[in-house]
Amino acid sequence: MTSISLKNVAKKFGSVSVLSDINLEIKEGEFCVFLGPSGCGKSTLLRMIAGIEETKTGELRIGGELMNDVLPADRRVAMVFQNYALYPQMTVYENMAFGLRQAKRPKDEIDRRVRVAAQTLQIEALLDRKPKALSGGQRQRVAIGRAIVRQPAVFLFDEPLSNLDAALRVHMRTEIANLHRDFAEASMVYVTHDQTEAMALADKIVLLRAGPDVQTLGSVAQVGTPLDLYHRPSNLFVAGFLGSPA
Ligand code: ADP
Ligand code: MG
Repeated sequence: MTSISLKNVAKKFGSVSVLSDINLEIKEGEFCVFLGPSGCGKSTLLRMIAGIEETKTGELRIGGELMNDVLPADRRVAMVFQNYALYPQMTVYENMAFGLRQAKRPKDEIDRRVRVAAQTLQIEALLDRKPKALSGGQRQRVAIGRAIVRQPAVFLFDEPLSNLDAALRVHMRTEIANLHRDFAEASMVYVTHDQTEAMALADKIVLLRAGPDVQTLGSVAQVGTPLDLYHRPSNLFVAGFLGSPA
């Protein structure tokens, strides 16, 4: 079943167009990576799916329902940010419980969900700490835990590993693959500019490109499996970006 569908979606900031004519289907349970060079509009597109950027042009559907005018809290999505975006004054527990408290879930349900997520991510021992007493990798786990407790239909990740050192990045990549396995019905949309990460994680890659100059729009260069894009690049930009064999 289709989880996310974009039809003729475009985005302007003021008079500057940053995305044009985006058509895309992401299936339930699919791991979809938005890959492309810096500035091509990956984060903007992800934020539009999350609802923290407006979609005024085109149709954005999640689970078949039109989302253009639906508030972020009412979309079944959860986002993990590059800089973690934890609340510094709250403990790990409170950070993870926050969204559920806002949604007025019963206290015992919140407690159960936070503890199950903490166990999954092996951060049970950190629940009473504040973010400043955590390492980068631990902070990222908390950010992922905060997404898990919402039991979303769609997980959105914006370069979640780019602030971690190389060894930890490879380790966390495995954890994200495990998360995909554990939440088999959820769709994952994962933004990165790192093609190795994309190749390792994606069922489907959406390779975006910016135009040849700053006035030209971000658009989809090719959609396919990692092997499709690598072995059958549909144009020189794709071949160049992925370092495909000549
Ligand atoms: P990426 O994530 O691929 O690096 P972004 O989606 O962050 O790209 O940005 C795409 C383009 O949109 C860039 O040119 C960026 O400067 C511009 N942009 C992003 N957010 C805003 C904003 N809030 N206002 C104006 N321009 C923006
Ligand atoms: Mg970005």
